[in-house]
Amino acid sequence: MNYSTPRLAERVAHYTQEIILPNILNWEKNRTADRSFLTAAADFGLLGLETPLDKGGLGGSFLDKVAMAREMSQASMAVTFALINSQNIAARLSGSPVSRHAEEIAPLLRSGKLVGCTALTEPSAGSDFAAIQTSATKTAGGWILNGEKAWITNAAHADIIMLYAQTDPEKGWRGIASFLIDARNPGFKRGDCHDILGGHSIGAGGFSLTDYFAPDEDRLAAPGDAFKYAMTSINGARTYVAAMCAGMLRNALDQAITYGKERTSFGQPLLQHQGLKWTLADLATERECLDLLTAKAAHHIHTGADAVLSAAYAKKYAGEITVPGVTACIQAMGANGLKADTLLGHHLACAKIAAYTDGSTEMMKERIAAFF
Ligand SMILES: Cc1cc2nc3c(=O)[nH]c(=O)nc-3n(C[C@H](O)[C@H](O)[C@H](O)COP(=O)(O)OP(=O)(O)OC[C@H]3O[C@@H](n4cnc5c(N)ncnc54)[C@H](O)[C@@H]3O)c2cc1C
Repeated sequence: MNYSTPRLAERVAHYTQEIILPNILNWEKNRTADRSFLTAAADFGLLGLETPLDKGGLGGSFLDKVAMAREMSQASMAVTFALINSQNIAARLSGSPVSRHAEEIAPLLRSGKLVGCTALTEPSAGSDFAAIQTSATKTAGGWILNGEKAWITNAAHADIIMLYAQTDPEKGWRGIASFLIDARNPGFKRGDCHDILGGHSIGAGGFSLTDYFAPDEDRLAAPGDAFKYAMTSINGARTYVAAMCAGMLRNALDQAITYGKERTSFGQPLLQHQGLKWTLADLATERECLDLLTAKAAHHIHTGADAVLSAAYAKKYAGEITVPGVTACIQAMGANGLKADTLLGHHLACAKIAAYTDGSTEMMKERIAAFF
């Protein structure tokens, strides 16, 4: 997958080399989400990746986002996912008909002064998105929101949230609308980050809303439309998460191959032993398949074709091969594969995260089987 301009490739490469790689081990050690990588991303323009040029962004395409996801995740999927989640909100609001969204909030998101996120999941509803209980009740001039969200990327420091809430429980998914929530307003309370096994930069956590008032102009999508919007945009997310998995696998495999060429056992390089060579050859083939599935889904999204099935294939396959693939690379490097500075442990935690975000592997099987 190539970038639309070489300049964009350079930005991503420089950000990865200068910001992620020198810091990721410390961020992991501290077990915290460090907001500085989002601020730094603004210096490289990356928070405006998909915002059109005439609105102050880089004017990149969905294919650029997928290429960035794949390359940057070789250093950290957690950082990449957090960055993309914030830029998604910047891009969405830059096209809003509400001038406060497009001209005040979107530029602040692109500059890294504000951080964005998307909130569907709740403590009691994940896979079953239609079962969310956060309520939105109509009142004069706006909506009153109450409820709790959990497992939200960037919840550690998000300021601007695209949040889904139920306006009429009797209507099921048709009652779900989306709202812009400003974490600086009364009624918003941030919780602690979830203490997870790794990938802390993703900043996953929760928050609650108590009689939070959203003016009418902050209702982003009407009941019913919001659910459909979420179901369409999630195909894009599944595709770039699959690309992130391909990036992690590439990095893990490159390291295992280099190690196998340099390290000897029983009088020859490790890689000359058939058992290891074949394991890595199988893995290289799987990585190639993942790249192809991802490219197909990305092409569908880029051209406006229906991507439900192709995105589900890519995400399901990524969810199944990445954890065992990274584990095999750790094994191929012996004890050295366990060292933190290989980033293989970080990739392993992130590969596990990727098997949940934007729909679990089991939910991908459900999607695929719905076409039978
Ligand atoms: C680090 C991280 C970041 C995240 N970021 C965000 C975010 O930014 N925004 C957001 O809204 N959400 C986010 N999520 C939440 C993610 O979307 C959910 O974790 C995911 O949808 C699964 O929901 P759950 O964890 O509640 O699992 P559950 O729905 O409780 O499911 C538990 C298990 O049962 C399986 N299962 C459920 N139903 C079925 C079924 N019908 N058939 C077979 N198996 C089934 C699931 O696959 C899973 O393995 C994030 C999650 C993580 C881990």
